[in-house]
Amino acid sequence: MNCYCCSGQKFADCCQPFINGIAKPPTAETLMRSRYSAYATVDVPYILRTTHPSTRKFYEPQLIRQWAESSSWQKLEIWSTTLGGVRDKRGTVEFKAYYLDSDQQPQIHHEFSNFVKELGKWFFVDGKVVKTL
Ligand SMILES: [Zn+2]
Repeated sequence: MNCYCCSGQKFADCCQPFINGIAKPPTAETLMRSRYSAYATVDVPYILRTTHPSTRKFYEPQLIRQWAESSSWQKLEIWSTTLGGVRDKRGTVEFKAYYLDSDQQPQIHHEFSNFVKELGKWFFVDGKVVKTL
């Protein structure tokens, strides 16, 4: 099956090895994509363990689960990135996640996310949600 993150690759060749812990996302964007796929598959532990320890306390596992489960994830679009490459220590990713909410209403989650790499591992630090009309 095609990956949830809309990369055009198979899930098994894209986000699944990251979510299963077999491989480490090499870039901020691949980590971002795998976190979206983790929402689509309701893998809350993956979302938490890829959130930086300094900000993890701000993300409530119950709320993550609720949002992931009650939404029907439609597609992910990466709008822009800065740094976040294999040789970088930080990076940003701007993305739009399209989903149907629990009332089957289409929603767009537009966010600028910050990422850091520590000991060869990328982490999501925090994000700024952009309000869309
Ligand atoms: Zn993917």
